[in-house]
Amino acid sequence: MSVIYDRVALIGLGLIASSMCHAMRRAGVAGEITGYARSPETRAIAREFGLCDRVCETAAEAATGADLVVLCVPVGAMGAVAAEIAPALKPGATVSDVGSVKKAVIEAVAPHIPAGVHFVPAHPLAGTEHSGPRSGFAELFDNRWCLIVPQTGSDRAAVERLERFWQALGSNTDEMDAEHHDLVLAVTSHAPHLIAYTMVGVADDLRRVTDSEVIKYSAAGFRDFTRIAASDPTMWRDVFLNNKEATLEILGRFTEELFALQRAIRTGDGDHLHAYFTRTRAIRRGIIEAGQDVDAPDFGRAKKA
Ligand code: NAP
Repeated sequence: MSVIYDRVALIGLGLIASSMCHAMRRAGVAGEITGYARSPETRAIAREFGLCDRVCETAAEAATGADLVVLCVPVGAMGAVAAEIAPALKPGATVSDVGSVKKAVIEAVAPHIPAGVHFVPAHPLAGTEHSGPRSGFAELFDNRWCLIVPQTGSDRAAVERLERFWQALGSNTDEMDAEHHDLVLAVTSHAPHLIAYTMVGVADDLRRVTDSEVIKYSAAGFRDFTRIAASDPTMWRDVFLNNKEATLEILGRFTEELFALQRAIRTGDGDHLHAYFTRTRAIRRGIIEAGQDVDAPDFGRAKKA
């Protein structure tokens, strides 16, 4: 693979940025990788194991001379980081981000982007419940989707170059507008996370089942909620605060469906339950057919045990 950007700067050095570093090295698409994280601890860890070619002391220093600058910080911090790097951006550079919410990030970042610099927001749909500079791995984006969110009047060459970059990192790419992105993600990611957080919270509050019983018998389903509910608190606080409208719409529908299922259980309406579960099972089959998960029992864990 040949170099796509001579210099790539990553602002924030957590799970996504560190995975990008590994994937960029694997693909050989970046001439030089500079990085910045706000805490001296994270910068020291990144230097210690040579995550980037150069770990800088300020975000502006990392962005100076970069052809691509990717903002990899929590959604609520994007605006401040964009303001900080703006004076250092070189003409013709592309600024992108990996935020899980798009409309709010665009509103926060776009006003800071100087004329002559391209702003092409993006969101790789890949992650784990781990965070920090040591949590990344090169395969994170393999066969996952990266949604690119071009702006009105975006330079097509800059958009296509960023798409080629994400494809080189292993992703499939699609273009989407910000509002639709936020609704799709509310269904596929944000609401499910909130439901998982709630379920784990409920188990924690329920005093008639002891904590040790919850942990011991967790493989019955609860364990899968706990993985999601272990995700980074800062990141997820920011996701909900910045994708309010779409998340609340989906949660409203969720509550209605939950009431309908509750009524079916109370009234003994087995047909309703059976028809509902048959429909949801088909969705799981669709995900497997689309290559977005494996068909192995227990998400493939049984094989490894
Ligand atoms: P992470 O592992 O928690 O790393 C976050 C990074 O941002 C750290 O380097 C942290 O610096 C820095 N940071 C945190 N708060 C900051 C602030 N207020 N100002 C400046 N820097 C700050 O997070 P991540 O999982 O890589 O997520 C990064 C972005 O990717 C988020 O916008 C998230 O929505 C998006 N995303 C996440 C996933 C996922 O599953 N994790 C998937 C797709 C997209 P320190 O280490 O110095 O504290």
